Amino acid sequence: MSEDPRRAIPRTDTVLAQAPFVAAVEQLGRTVVRTAVAAAQQRARDGEIAPDEVVDAALAALPTRTSSLTPVLNATGVVVHTNIGRAPLSPTAIEAVVDAAGYVDVEMDLATGARSRRGAGALAALLEAVPDAAGALVVNNGAAALVLATTALAAGREVVVSRGEMVEIGDGFRLPDLIASTGARLREVGTTNRTHLRDYTDAIGPETGCVLKVHPSNFRVDGFVTSVGLDELRGLTRPDGSSVPVVADIGSGLLSPDPLLPDEPDATTWLRAGATIVTASGDKLLGGPQAGLVLGDAEVVEKLRRHPLQRALRVDKLALAALEATVRGPVPPVTAALHATADDLRPRVEALAAEVGREIVPVEGRVGGGGAPGVPLPGWAVEIPVAAVERLRQPEGDLPVVLARVEGGRGLVDLRCIPVDRDVDVLAALRAALGHDGSGATPPSSS
Ligand SMILES: *Cc1c(COP(=O)(O)O)cnc(C)c1O
Repeated sequence: MSEDPRRAIPRTDTVLAQAPFVAAVEQLGRTVVRTAVAAAQQRARDGEIAPDEVVDAALAALPTRTSSLTPVLNATGVVVHTNIGRAPLSPTAIEAVVDAAGYVDVEMDLATGARSRRGAGALAALLEAVPDAAGALVVNNGAAALVLATTALAAGREVVVSRGEMVEIGDGFRLPDLIASTGARLREVGTTNRTHLRDYTDAIGPETGCVLKVHPSNFRVDGFVTSVGLDELRGLTRPDGSSVPVVADIGSGLLSPDPLLPDEPDATTWLRAGATIVTASGDKLLGGPQAGLVLGDAEVVEKLRRHPLQRALRVDKLALAALEATVRGPVPPVTAALHATADDLRPRVEALAAEVGREIVPVEGRVGGGGAPGVPLPGWAVEIPVAAVERLRQPEGDLPVVLARVEGGRGLVDLRCIPVDRDVDVLAALRAALGHDGSGATPPSSS
């Protein structure tokens, strides 16, 4: 009688006891490893592999990481790219995140052992960077900062906002809907292209919670346009003489002006101009972690901090660590990429093109993240076939994922957002994607 070969399939416990699997359990966790073993055993039961191949098949199927998030090299030329995580952190900020990943004194004064203000270091860094702000608060993201501000200042009352600033920011996220969700009523004034001071003063009454100014980050209205400056909105009062706070959503998170982006608002300028508080994102032009910043009048900031909703919008310790390191530390990658000139980029792009036998072409990068729509970022890219762009996105073996851009029927590899020390990795990926002759016509293995 012949024995059923399936009886030779190694048992789970036996496989897991082997050294490579013990190590894998330590690195990846038991569930992941067991799943890989079970899948290999099933393949043997199905006759796809021999029972003595189960161990090797299970090892081969083990993932190299526990997170399904795959690091990518951004060769799109879009600096703040929301789909790939917006701002990459500086090495200094990454170090701070790693340090904060364990137990850390985020809410403790080590001198006394008593509880302290959460994230005091990040707040101090922001206040030093923006001396015009007397108070600072950090929440989970820019939208949370806006929700908290309008809730604390205007829930059950009115938020006065210009129709020219009723924007959708991306992925269907509309400011008016967000504010309506807080229980504040929107009081729209003016028209899409023109809003005058009179429109605001006519709308302000006992029911006014705050005036909201929004930077319409992702579009521009040209032509017959009037909007009311913060200097005019400052000092508006309700009929009883109480002053109306002006909340200004600057969006991108510049703390002070950047000459490269003259139309982009920054916290310092808008506070000086008359905003009571500004709200902003941490992971756009500031170049830090996802976070929402509130900067400005100390009393108003304190009112937000004490609002019960604040607890639900709290920022985590990793973000606080990265934020402080970004504000205090070296120039973050976003800033470096934005300021890289065509002349800076050309030698790197030329060297890459020469290695793979392709041409370089002038291109325009973009700020991205819904910011500074009109600002061109002149640079250079290696031109490649569109088919190679797809292979770069799904490389063979251990090669890094490189995201290139497709424009006008051609693929473009733009080094603007690639750290210089990763050019070699882009080259390796590009060689594989183009095939050995560099023509892009013969991929190493097409499926
Ligand atoms: C991006 C943006 C927001 C939202 O900020 P998140 O950090 O993405 O939540 C709000 N307002 C403006 C003007 C923005 O540009």
